[in-house]
Formats: sequence, structure tokens, C-alpha cells
Amino acid sequence: MARKATTIVLKFGGSSVANSECIERISKIAIRESKEHNVIVVTSAMGKTTNQLIDLANQVCPGCDGRELDMLLATGELVSISLAAMAIQKLGHPAVSLTGWQAGFVTESSHNKARIAEIKCDRINKHLELGEIVVVAGFQGITEDGEVTTLGRGGSDTSAVALASAFKADRCDIYTDVKGVYTTDPRVVKEATKLDHISFEEMIELASLGAKVLHPRSVELAKKYNIDLRVRSSFKPENKGTEVISLQRMKDMELTKAVTGVALDTKQAKIAIISVADRPGIASKVFGELGKNKINVDMIIQSVPRDGINDIAFTVPREDMETAKAVCEEILKDIEGSKVEADDGIAKVSIVGAGMLNRPGVASTLFETLSQAGINIQMISTSEIKISCLIDEADATKAVQVIHDAFELEKSSEPIIV
Ligand code: ADP
Ligand code: ASP
Ligand code: MG
Repeated sequence: MARKATTIVLKFGGSSVANSECIERISKIAIRESKEHNVIVVTSAMGKTTNQLIDLANQVCPGCDGRELDMLLATGELVSISLAAMAIQKLGHPAVSLTGWQAGFVTESSHNKARIAEIKCDRINKHLELGEIVVVAGFQGITEDGEVTTLGRGGSDTSAVALASAFKADRCDIYTDVKGVYTTDPRVVKEATKLDHISFEEMIELASLGAKVLHPRSVELAKKYNIDLRVRSSFKPENKGTEVISLQRMKDMELTKAVTGVALDTKQAKIAIISVADRPGIASKVFGELGKNKINVDMIIQSVPRDGINDIAFTVPREDMETAKAVCEEILKDIEGSKVEADDGIAKVSIVGAGMLNRPGVASTLFETLSQAGINIQMISTSEIKISCLIDEADATKAVQVIHDAFELEKSSEPIIV
């Protein structure tokens, strides 16, 4: 079997390789595509394996992270690649499985959230020359010093897009457990509509704001290298799915609505520093210390000063809440604050749409909708194509539902999940 002129990358997420039946299904997809193209398959760990490995780690050593966690998490993908290669071989097509490091993924050294520095293509090329389907473990790589790293939760999408770029692939298909990208999480709002197209810019926002269907870094990479990126269902591979395309192509086609999608993030926490001095240098001290501790801060508000004092509140990833609180408490004296409060019962709900540019009234519709539903807004942040509101976590599902209704996103709803 000789090498073909074109290459495609097919990525299968955890639920697409959850059991032997699923693995056989995805093997057939790979073999079908191999009639026309060289095929590189990327798999995630089977089902909920990564969560189970994290639970195990926490039983042995609560809160542990770094090198040993990477050693453990990287094992998940090794199970699925070898099984997938066996299944493909059994169906009569040559295949080989490769770990991230065998496949040439070199990453930076930060454990648990490493970025890909380079992909050395020789090993994969050698197997493609032999006409083999190459099954690569997603989510992992190795540093120049030979240390195993992982790319952050959901990172297999990024492995796939990086391979598509390195091998100048014609297409990168991200196969998952829904039929494509929807106007919101179809498991939260059953009237959610599947989108035929979405722009890179909107998809980056939706993914960063909590829509788990694509890893945000995978969309950034696809935009940078202009990769033909599609999201489709491994259970219904005949369906077209969603194409992620340039904003310009999108504008030419169908940019008719102000809002394209609604995202929900329930993995944030709020920190409030009460009664700090209203003078220069306070914010830089607070956020400087948080930065030194590698804590990512998202939404920030500072209240209007009264009698020379004000309050500063911000959000951080939920897993960093205790550290962020401790960091703020440590500098409380220097900033003349009275106390630090932490709240992990919050959620961030966001609307995203390139169509909201130059369209007044979108923010007011959002606020009015939440107010009519009796949902209090604790913080607001905006950019050109998104508006986010921080609300009580107990109101999260209701908020997504009413916002989805208010912006009429359910119009052409079709049955969603597989
Ligand atoms: P995989 O294991 O295939 O990587 P993920 O669980 O990471 O799959 O992502 C798919 C899930 O993303 C869906 O099952 C769905 O619940 C969720 N999701 C959240 N927002 C959206 C959205 N806007 N469109 C489609 N799916 C979404
Ligand atoms: N298995 C990893 C995770 O669950 C990577 C991925 O699925 O993309 O986060
Ligand atoms: Mg995923």
C-alpha cells in the first residue's frame, strides 16, 4: 500500500472510544477515509478514564499535580491507541499506534498544561510511507529533557490540529458525541440548534467561555494555520457536522443573527477583597501577586470609592480558589484591606456573536432577560463579540435557557445527540 497524495487527521474523543464497539466503529471510519487519503488518527482516553485517574491521584495525594500527575494521565491515551490500532488491523488494514513522544510531540516544560513547541514528523512519515493508518495518543508530549507532559484537559483536540498543520492535512475532523457545534450545550438546552458553520473567532470565544466541544487552543491553532476544521459525530459519521471557517467566509454566507451561541462556565470562583485603600498601586500589588502564583484572573470589578476605600472582586479557576484566597490574605495588611471572601457557588453565562458588532441593544436584551427571570447579575465583562455575566450557580441552567429563547436560537432545532 503506497502513500497517497493527501493526508487527513481524524480525532476521536473519549465517548467515541468508550468501549470495544465504539472502537470498531471509529476504525471503520478511519479505514473508509484511508481509501482516499493518508490517515492520522488521534484518540483521547476511553470514556471517563482521565477523570478516574485524577480521582485515584487525589485519593493517594489530594491536590497533587506536576510531573507524577502527567505520568499517570498520559497512560489513559495509551490504552485507546493500542486498542484502536488492533481493531484496524483486525479489519484488514495495516495500522500502528504511537505515544505522543514516539509521534514526535515536543512540548514546553510546564506540567499539566504544556504547550506544543514542535512536532518532529519523521516517525509518522515513515509509517505513512508504508501505507499504515497511524494512531497517535492525543493530549501528551515530551520535553527536550525527556519528561512526559500533558496539554491540559480537553487537549487532544489541540494535538489533532497541530498534526494537521505539521502534515499540511487537507482536513481535521474532530469526531465527538454530538452532531457538531450547537447554539449552546445540547445537553443543557434540548432545543439547541446545530450550526452548519461558525467562525474561528466565535468558536474561540465559545470554547474559552466553557463550551467544551473544542479545546480553545485547537481553534486558535486552526485559525493561525487556516486548517479546514470540522466537528462531527462518530455515531453518525454520514452527517455533515459543523465547519469552522474564517469570519470573512461567514460574513459572505449567513451572518444574520446578533448572537451565535450561549456558553456556560461552572468552573470558576469569585474572590472579593473588601475595603481596600483607594490609592495607586493596590490593583497592581493584588494582581501581581496572583500572577506570580500562576493564577489566571478573568473578570474584574472595582467598586466606586467611598471615603477613600473600595472593594475589588475577580474570578479565578475554581481549582485555584483556595490559593488565590491565601495569596490575597497574605497581602491584606499591605493593601489595608479588611477581609477576603471566596465563593465557588457562581457560574459565568456568556453570549457570543460576530453579528453583535454595530448592533445596539444586545446587552440590554441580555440584562432584561436575566432580570425578568429573577436572576441577579454579580459581574459583567464584554469584548467586541461577547458579553459575560456572573450569576449564582443555582440559576445557571435557567439562565442559559432564557437567554437562548430571548435571542431566538432554537429556530431550526433538530434532534441532537447521536
Ligand atoms: P470529546 O470527549 O469528544 O472530546 P467533549 O465532552 O470534550 O467530547 O465535548 C463534547 C461535549 O461538549 C458535548 O457532549 C456537549 O455536552 C458539550 N458542549 C458544550 N457546549 C457545546 C456546544 N455549543 N455545542 C456542542 N457541544 C457542546
Ligand atoms: N483525555 C484528556 C481529557 O479528558 C484529553 C482529551 O480528552 O482531550 O482531558
Ligand atoms: Mg473534548
